[in-house]
Amino acid sequence: MHMDSVFDDSAIALRPTIIEVDLDAMRANVRGIRDHVGDARIMGTVKANAYGHGLIRTARELLHFGVDELGVAFLEEGIALRRAGITAPVLVLGGIIGNQISHFLEYDLQITASSVYKLHQIDETAAAMGRKAAVHLKIDTGMGRIGIRHENASQLFAVALEAQHIELRGVYSHFASSHDADHSFTRLQLQRFNDALEFFPTEGLPFPIRHIANSGAILQHPDSVLDMVRPGIMMYGVYPGPDVQHSIPLQPVLSMKTRVVYFKVVREGQSIGYDHTWTADADTRVVTLPVGYGDGYARRLSDRADVLIGGTRYPVAGRISMDQCMVNIGSGSAYNGDEVTLIGRQGEEVITVEELADLCDTIPYEILTMINTRVPRKYLSTR
Ligand SMILES: *Cc1c(COP(=O)(O)O)cnc(C)c1O
Repeated sequence: MHMDSVFDDSAIALRPTIIEVDLDAMRANVRGIRDHVGDARIMGTVKANAYGHGLIRTARELLHFGVDELGVAFLEEGIALRRAGITAPVLVLGGIIGNQISHFLEYDLQITASSVYKLHQIDETAAAMGRKAAVHLKIDTGMGRIGIRHENASQLFAVALEAQHIELRGVYSHFASSHDADHSFTRLQLQRFNDALEFFPTEGLPFPIRHIANSGAILQHPDSVLDMVRPGIMMYGVYPGPDVQHSIPLQPVLSMKTRVVYFKVVREGQSIGYDHTWTADADTRVVTLPVGYGDGYARRLSDRADVLIGGTRYPVAGRISMDQCMVNIGSGSAYNGDEVTLIGRQGEEVITVEELADLCDTIPYEILTMINTRVPRKYLSTR
């Protein structure tokens, strides 16, 4: 058993609320991706605390399972990987602010350059430090977030190739709706990307590493695999959308569990919780759980979500508080200390992140990344 948390180890070992990370499932998901993409490099996306699974440990395990490189959103996530001793290539996918560049070089992190201006800044900083900066150029093919417009990409390529202190390692873009049942916009984005890249053969130059495929594209657009893929959510066993093809079988990796801390009988007509949103329509048994929205168990789930106790589904009753919530177990039985599953499986019953996302009117990505760092992560493996 291995914990990854900001808190004192002996105290978190006693915390009843935990995230369990099933490393066997993660390994199987990475293997499924590898079988699907052949020789292409795999950049495992571990931004936002590895989608809630714990940044450092997850990064190490993914590399062990055959992921070649890592992608993060922010500089500080990349620095955290380096400080933990991880030496694999790391690309920071987000946009940069000028004064961050020297830190990228200091920590050997690859930089996303999305304009000629940023390339000049990177080149100057690298020159002053007597270094070469490893850069990936970002092309906007229709996401409209960061990146040079695809029609103007050749300008960016030319500047990068001329700069003395830049090593052009990759060129990439990002899909807006590759998880969709309608494939037309993804096809258009891929076409724009490939057209922009024609610059290299036209100039008689080898391609840098070309990458565009996220989870949705890996599942639905095999022609977008190119030299490298950037899976995120699928490594964690969750499909990127409700209508996406399940062309690779995936197993959920994360479970969220707690334990009963209090049991009581609530009388008919009695209301419980903030704002008294729930009233007992008959005498009933209610248990209290030491978990709330401050852990990332969304307040939006109040009076909506179910939890599993003893393999049975029971509804959350009343408002979820910051650190506690109540569950109506009717005439069922539960004792202090009994395990409660908020996300995951108990016997025949399962609560998926997709189910919670629907109840919250959001996407599984948000359910996973909402889980607060105060919840300890526990890593399980049979190997
Ligand atoms: C988050 C992200 C990914 C991974 O996306 P998934 O949908 O989780 O596979 C890939 N590339 C970029 C640029 C990203 O920001």
